[in-house]
Amino acid sequence: MPIATVNPATGETLRTFDALAPDALERRIALARAAFDEHRTTGLARRAELLTRAAGLLDEDREGVARTMTTEMGKPIAAARAEAAKCAKAMRWYAAHAGELLADEHPSAADAEDSGAARVVVRYRPLGVVLAVMPWNFPLWQVVRFAAPALMAGNTGLLKHASNVPQTALYLEDLFRRAGYPEGCFQTLLVGSDAVEGILRDPRVAAATLTGSEPAGRSVAAIAGDEVKKTVLELGGSDPYLVMPSADVARAAATAVTARTQNNGQSCIAAKRFVVHTDVHDAFCELFTEGMRRLAVGDPMEESTQVGPLAMEQGRADLEELVDDAVRRGATVRTGGRRPSGLERGWFYEPTVLTGVHDGMRIHREEAFGPVAAVYRVADAEEAVALANDIPFGLSSNAWTRDESEMARFARDIEAGGVFFNGMTASHPALPFGGVKRSGYGRELSGHGIREFCNVTTLWYG
Ligand code: NDP
Repeated sequence: MPIATVNPATGETLRTFDALAPDALERRIALARAAFDEHRTTGLARRAELLTRAAGLLDEDREGVARTMTTEMGKPIAAARAEAAKCAKAMRWYAAHAGELLADEHPSAADAEDSGAARVVVRYRPLGVVLAVMPWNFPLWQVVRFAAPALMAGNTGLLKHASNVPQTALYLEDLFRRAGYPEGCFQTLLVGSDAVEGILRDPRVAAATLTGSEPAGRSVAAIAGDEVKKTVLELGGSDPYLVMPSADVARAAATAVTARTQNNGQSCIAAKRFVVHTDVHDAFCELFTEGMRRLAVGDPMEESTQVGPLAMEQGRADLEELVDDAVRRGATVRTGGRRPSGLERGWFYEPTVLTGVHDGMRIHREEAFGPVAAVYRVADAEEAVALANDIPFGLSSNAWTRDESEMARFARDIEAGGVFFNGMTASHPALPFGGVKRSGYGRELSGHGIREFCNVTTLWYG
């Protein structure tokens, strides 16, 4: 893929960038390693000061960076501003909490004595240079949720961002530099995905985190496995959204519209499969379809736009194939199912509701990365759980019910990294984020996230 800013609302190439030459790449890796030797010994108070300063700058830059994101990948401008604000909040959260999250642990005196020690301390030390391979869908947030904890832990970061968001990638490097981080603590590498293997195999790089597609994750994990390097993977999802008879159906339907179409439908944690009990199926579908039909699709720079274009032309083609396959195999299009008229230049697709979806359709197993909802009808909680789990992914899930026994059952049985009751999945700095099955492994955010790239060191004193 060329490294370029191409406006998805118009298809126009605005700027192209050359990939880093091999000697420039070498210099940057060397710099990252040298910066680690300094950064790992700075105190937490200093690290918190730097990150807080970055948060302040990001707040000041909000409008400009929001416009860059919207230009590069098409998210509605209001959502882009909200993403920038969320990043600043996460930076402040880690600046405030890293001390307690990384505090030394002291096994009990009895356990220490039993191990033959006078005293034992468990310490979270940084791992080193971490390579972050990141996607375009939340081009600031995906990076910050890695960088904020990694930098607080004393690691340094190398960012290989998606090739279609180079200006956002360069902004991030500039942000950390202006905040006062020593040179090399956080660098953007403008390189294609073909350069990732060499960087990951470099002995100066300690670990990698990747958010993106399953093929990209599999490739990075295989190389890291070969090199015996730690990885965290956050891959796709096709989250279920269960609606049971005791649910507030109107709220469930209204939230479902947002859950499915946030970020133009291109979110790994978007609800994608709507599993609805037969008693409320028709009422839910009516409200949900109406809500999807009413969404304002258009220029993402317009304040009133709720759904912009897909980020890439290929992404729209993939989505169209999934819908066509489902329709050919008997699904009913309740709304959408086509490109909107009057927006032919960009890569737009109408918010779409498909009912009568079944396991013979591709959309049953594959992630629909765009504003397309697949609705199923189920007879009871058992069938709902079976359908929720009948997918290779396990990122998050949503369940609408007021029945305590159903809640207990879903909390026990749904195979995913989260179950959000009577609401939609959203990430928060204090809550662990990540999945199981083919959605990846490891966790981001919270204490779990910051400890992923730490060397958990046992200090045993005889
Ligand atoms: P990719 O996984 O291709 O891109 C994500 C990042 O990985 C980019 O930086 C990309 O670089 C890089 N990359 C791609 N292939 C490799 C590889 N073999 N080795 C190392 N790095 C690689 O996602 P796409 O943008 O192509 O989107 C395709 C699908 O991925 C979507 O339809 C969706 O299903 C899923 N996806 C999931 C996301 C999530 O949040 N979990 C986010 C984005 C996509 P480059 O851009 O240079 O190719």
